[in-house]
Amino acid sequence: MIKKTTQEDSKIHNSRLILKTIYDHHSISRVGISRLTGLTRTTVSENVNQFIKESLVIETGTSPSSGGKPAILLRVVDDARHLIGIDLASSEFRGAVVDLRGNILHRIHWPVQDRDGDLALALVYKLIEQLLSLADRPILGIGIGAPGLMDPYQGAALNAVNLDWHALPLGDMLREQFKLPIYIANDSQLAALAEYTFTTQKNITNLILINLSQGVGAGIVLGGKLFYGDNFGAGEIGHVRVMDGGERCRCGNHGCLETLISSRALVKRARDIARQYPQTILNQLSLSPDAIDPEIIFQACEAGDAAVLAMVDEVGRYLGSAIAYLVSALNVNQIVIGGSLARFGDRLIQAVKRQVDQGTLPALARETHIIASDLGEDMVILGAASLLLGQEMGVV
Ligand SMILES: [Zn+2]
Repeated sequence: MIKKTTQEDSKIHNSRLILKTIYDHHSISRVGISRLTGLTRTTVSENVNQFIKESLVIETGTSPSSGGKPAILLRVVDDARHLIGIDLASSEFRGAVVDLRGNILHRIHWPVQDRDGDLALALVYKLIEQLLSLADRPILGIGIGAPGLMDPYQGAALNAVNLDWHALPLGDMLREQFKLPIYIANDSQLAALAEYTFTTQKNITNLILINLSQGVGAGIVLGGKLFYGDNFGAGEIGHVRVMDGGERCRCGNHGCLETLISSRALVKRARDIARQYPQTILNQLSLSPDAIDPEIIFQACEAGDAAVLAMVDEVGRYLGSAIAYLVSALNVNQIVIGGSLARFGDRLIQAVKRQVDQGTLPALARETHIIASDLGEDMVILGAASLLLGQEMGVV
């Protein structure tokens, strides 16, 4: 249903536009805002006064005068509000208190042993309580990234196998408990939003982020907006079958991409290699094959273990094929690889590039930039923060 624009809507629109202009420019005068937005000086002044009253904006000094009266400069107070960002996609639950620029102020990591839906839920409540007690500014809201199908409009976890959540109205439950705005989305989709908001250049409006961690997924930003898909599953590349008769996946099918290139899959393969070839660097770095974890695999990669290097090349080949399909379908030039396995760095990127070069139209491959993300382990938390900043304040 298309709503008529009411006077109230346009007031909110103007207010958000003014705040975003201040946010984007770090330091700007009322006249400058008026010039950039086309809004009258009265409208700008009224809104700015309101922001100052709410402690969102402060006057920071004056601009150098060019003859006339020097103009007072304004900026957004970065920690005027605190945001709670939560990442439920790893082997541990992570949460952070974040300011309006995406700076992490406090961080909590809690290991999760059991994959029991009720226990996971209880832990989420506790994590939020703990984070709220660390925040000392008004809270803008709570953003949550979780693996699986999340409905960001209803704030519901439709299907999260890992967390044992099915059609869980998480948003309503948390809203009732904490009386705060709650946003929920898929972890890889949020990671893409974080990459778009906090690291990409202004002229880039399309990007795909590949989240290569415990699971494998992608997030797609098109025209500056996160693309969720008709059933919120856009970017679920981890469950595309790439090997006939392959291993059973946690989704129920066999031979999914995730069963070959996720961190879980690599640990399993590295342990097999270590058992089969006792002389490898992998074995020298680990007490026993069963003790091999992702950290040891990274170290073996850096030390030049031939079997691990071959494994990284293979990850690059499988991932490169998936990316070639995405590039062919969407013609997005900016491909960013994030997640814990992005630590394989240039070796992985080069292997992906080779496959994309061979796997899509040369004219498209030539324009495709494949890079590693700099966001590290905070990317889902920052994506949750970005979602909040966009929805609640309209500044990103
Ligand atoms: Zn699967």
